[in-house]
Amino acid sequence: MAKIFVVKNSGFCFGVKRAIRMAFYAVKNNQRKVFTLGPLIHNPQVVEDLEKKGVNVVEDLKEIDRGCLIIRSHGVHPRILESAKKRRLKIIDATCPFVKKAQNNARLLFDQGYQVIVVGEANHPEVKSIVGYAKDKALVLNNTKNHLNLKRFKKIGVIAQTTLNFDLFKQAIDKLVESTKEIKIYNTMCNATSLMQEKTAKLAGKVDLMIVVGGHNSANTTRLAKLCRGIGTKTYHVETSRGLKRSWFKDVKRIGITAGTSTPPWIIQGVVKKIKSLEKIYTPQSSG
Ligand code: SF4
Repeated sequence: MAKIFVVKNSGFCFGVKRAIRMAFYAVKNNQRKVFTLGPLIHNPQVVEDLEKKGVNVVEDLKEIDRGCLIIRSHGVHPRILESAKKRRLKIIDATCPFVKKAQNNARLLFDQGYQVIVVGEANHPEVKSIVGYAKDKALVLNNTKNHLNLKRFKKIGVIAQTTLNFDLFKQAIDKLVESTKEIKIYNTMCNATSLMQEKTAKLAGKVDLMIVVGGHNSANTTRLAKLCRGIGTKTYHVETSRGLKRSWFKDVKRIGITAGTSTPPWIIQGVVKKIKSLEKIYTPQSSG
């Protein structure tokens, strides 16, 4: 019978747990309607569950006349915060403290005259928020092949997207060091993701098949799947147990499971349960 290994502590990280707890608290203890600007976390199943409990997702502040706005763990551009205050919305700030630190460091570097460089994905909400804290003057480096003309800056200050892969950050720093005489680096990467990447890579090297669980819109889940594939292990990324296919498990002896930081424990457990049931189809039962 195949063995299933689940990466320890995979799934919800500290920042996501905190944001969800704050959202539930807001719904329970608030007379006003509760909103988030964009989904609270990158997991469609959790967002659906939150909606059923009264957390409404809007795409624009203009859609809210009054009520309570939860700032999600990725944080938001400071302009949005100001706009929400002007609209007299009650603000519950669930920005993850690690993201907050990256935002504050970006502002500090900007105030000290550094050209801020954020290493990460330009379109990710967290990166957009960090750029905002550098008065929209920060440049985003999303891979080392980017040709940012940095020679014109006397000093540069570097921030990492919290969920960045450590090796990518190191490669970016190597490149940036060549471009300037003065560089200040804040390692704003979050332990939760780098630890998960480390543990996932370790497990991926020991199994025949990796199942990565989490939203297809979750950057860190997608990155875990990419990491496993990079190691050479056959890997599938599913949102829930419904995405699993029986044929994947044929003749597989060791199965590894990992999950992104926005994946709830019940979805991971559901995947394990379903694999066990599918697996019986291919495992000859001992007659004793
Ligand atoms: S991954 Fe890290 S930075 Fe992002 S929400 Fe979780 S704890 Fe915070």
